[in-house]
Amino acid sequence: MALYAELHRHLGGSVVPRVLWRYFERHSSELISRFAEYPEFEDFYTRPRNTLDEYLELHTLVESVQTVETLPYFIYRLVRGAYIFENLAYLELRYTPYLRTPEHLSQSQRIDKMAEIVKVVGEASSQPEYPIVTSQILCMHTRLPYEVNKAIIDLAGQNKNYVCGIDVAGGDSHYADRLSEWISLYEYARSLGINTTGHFYETPSGCYPQLLPYLMRIGHGIQIPLLYPELLPDVARRGQCLEVCPTTYIQTGTLQDIRQLKLVFDRCFDAGVDIAICTDNAGLHNVRLPFEYENLLTYDIINFEQLQACQDAAFRHAFAWPYGERPASLLNELLQPETTKVLALKD
Ligand SMILES: [Zn+2]
Repeated sequence: MALYAELHRHLGGSVVPRVLWRYFERHSSELISRFAEYPEFEDFYTRPRNTLDEYLELHTLVESVQTVETLPYFIYRLVRGAYIFENLAYLELRYTPYLRTPEHLSQSQRIDKMAEIVKVVGEASSQPEYPIVTSQILCMHTRLPYEVNKAIIDLAGQNKNYVCGIDVAGGDSHYADRLSEWISLYEYARSLGINTTGHFYETPSGCYPQLLPYLMRIGHGIQIPLLYPELLPDVARRGQCLEVCPTTYIQTGTLQDIRQLKLVFDRCFDAGVDIAICTDNAGLHNVRLPFEYENLLTYDIINFEQLQACQDAAFRHAFAWPYGERPASLLNELLQPETTKVLALKD
């Protein structure tokens, strides 16, 4: 039995359109009054955008309804779907806690409220009937000032039972004018022993070699093999893993054809760079993790052996997977005596 690890999923983009529609119908029908029927909403919500910035705008729609009161509603459905439809054994969920606090409060009040959000997300992620190992990645954000981003790192450091790492999000073309700030934030996170990933090298305008040494994993990173393959040996030496989210690049207009990813995988395999295949925004795309895998096979971007190597890599690079091995190895041991018994009966 194959069980999977998902390393890159945004809380905002993980709400599938049907769940969001039902929520709006029950609680905020004015937000969907311009859509006559559900299919129109689904089309609006899931259709590709022209740019990464335009695509990220959609997150604000979901963020606006994900509050401390409603988060358990969405997370329960997210974990249920991940367990039932995606065979996930491990899930890292990422989001910017500050953006889930009430907008009318002052900055310092909102910072104080973030700890409650982390606790609510952590408690809601633990569902005994859908047992998945979950942890949170807290995202710093390009729209937020230094003090808030630093507070997000402090929060990660203070809540290691719920939080396994930090990230930066908000569009990788927006880091350039605050580069030294991002470097100091990542240095600070590493000094506290916090695991790091970051949205970099997603688009051609989001490439910052100065930041690479601070990352343990690279959110997307596809422009490294595509545009700067000379960096791959260093990425391999540092043991950094790329979190590749195939559907995203079509949805954001970063790639025109998913087959362009073949070069990404080929060059990474050749250089010994690990890739974890992820969904990014499974709800927003309406594409769950097993379908990301299947698409890559269908388009001959990778073969089954390479797929399994990526699935293994996901568990190896997971920040909070508590076991040395991936679940298949653990399950094989459990199932072995049964198999032996069946064989013995057949004899
Ligand atoms: Zn992402």
